[in-house]
Amino acid sequence: MSNKKYDVCIIGGGITGTALGYFLCKLGKTSVAIFEKSYLSSGSTGRCAGGIRQQWSTRPNVRLAMRSVKLFERFKEDVGMDIEYTQGGYLVLSYTENEAAQFERNVLMQREEGLNVEILSPSEVSKRYPYINIEGLKLATFCQTDGHANPHKAVIGYAQAIRKMGGAIFTHTEVTDIDVINDRVVGINTSRGYFSCDVVVNASGPWSREISELVGVELPTESYRHQIMVTEPLENFFPMMAISFSGNFYMRQTQHGQFILGQGDKDEKPGINYNVTFKFEKELTSKMIRIFPFLKNVRLIRHWSGMYNMSPDAQPIIGESEKVKGYYYAVGYSGHGFMVAPAVGEALAELLVFGKTLHTDISYLGLKRFENMVVEKEKNVV
Ligand SMILES: Cc1cc2nc3c(=O)[nH]c(=O)nc-3n(C[C@H](O)[C@H](O)[C@H](O)COP(=O)(O)OP(=O)(O)OC[C@H]3O[C@@H](n4cnc5c(N)ncnc54)[C@H](O)[C@@H]3O)c2cc1C
Repeated sequence: MSNKKYDVCIIGGGITGTALGYFLCKLGKTSVAIFEKSYLSSGSTGRCAGGIRQQWSTRPNVRLAMRSVKLFERFKEDVGMDIEYTQGGYLVLSYTENEAAQFERNVLMQREEGLNVEILSPSEVSKRYPYINIEGLKLATFCQTDGHANPHKAVIGYAQAIRKMGGAIFTHTEVTDIDVINDRVVGINTSRGYFSCDVVVNASGPWSREISELVGVELPTESYRHQIMVTEPLENFFPMMAISFSGNFYMRQTQHGQFILGQGDKDEKPGINYNVTFKFEKELTSKMIRIFPFLKNVRLIRHWSGMYNMSPDAQPIIGESEKVKGYYYAVGYSGHGFMVAPAVGEALAELLVFGKTLHTDISYLGLKRFENMVVEKEKNVV
């Protein structure tokens, strides 16, 4: 035992851990410590595309994302960091009749939620974006208030604010065990020694299941590699994120002019794997040159990989364990954790401080939903 004590210990220095730490400190709970085994944003957050989208197929996800956008809009003012946040919109492209019909239903629901989403025919897409090849396109949707930001800067912004408000961040500090007495969390063991606490939050991204095993709570999450690459810079002309679920790709231009491109691979096996493959480069570049002909002869600069921490319904798993008091989790984001993290961090902080959420309902995201198996799978995922 030691005299190192924090009310809340957070495992993971990605966007989830730092957003939560920030909102806890903001609500006056500054007895908070984040433990990160490597450097801040070294996990999925620092490897992601930074897309921020509200066009989801399930109503709760739309609400969560809309709340996050409100918080991203105020990020610079509230948190004190310019995170290259741009509301250049998201153009969602559909290449199948079924999906196009689903998009039309999604848009009705999204508009009911107050989201301004346009439906564009292929010729409207061509007129508006003459540099996109519309071959095979059935329909597109566009939401101007969607956008993107620099994920590293978001984490660093939150981290600096946490330290300023009195919270602690231990980088290069691995959590090796969670101490539970009488079904209640009482502390954690780390590579820097023992810390007592009342609450532990599992915000460990790709390692969510392994961390949960430390307290004997089974999380239905699996991590899958996702590769991503970046080109040399071009003059800035492409303000939106373009994405397609049926076409399996996403791409956007950064503030510095580079294009970030990615796609999923349904043949990936679960497990942590940071290798990259030539197959990915070949497949994605030929597809992207066909749809975005201006990318022809543009050089690739870098190619890396990160993990999607997947849940069975492709929606995050957030809440407190019923089995172990004081053990919380915010994991399983299934490839869209960056964009919802501010709303999740705010909601979880409110839950910890007030015992209830004030801005966004996250009760539907608990582990319990998997018990009765009536889960609605989020469809809008690459
Ligand atoms: C290629 C790619 C593209 C993506 N694009 C988007 C996008 O456009 N928009 C979007 O919203 N999302 C996107 N995502 C998903 C997004 O990156 C994640 O959902 C999000 O970053 C999860 O954040 P996190 O903080 O929960 O996890 P992470 O960022 O992975 O952070 C978890 C941290 O926990 C630490 N950790 C683990 N175990 C321990 C331990 N025992 N002790 C201490 N620390 C530990 C890890 O080192 C890690 O830094 C993408 C992901 C990938 C891989």
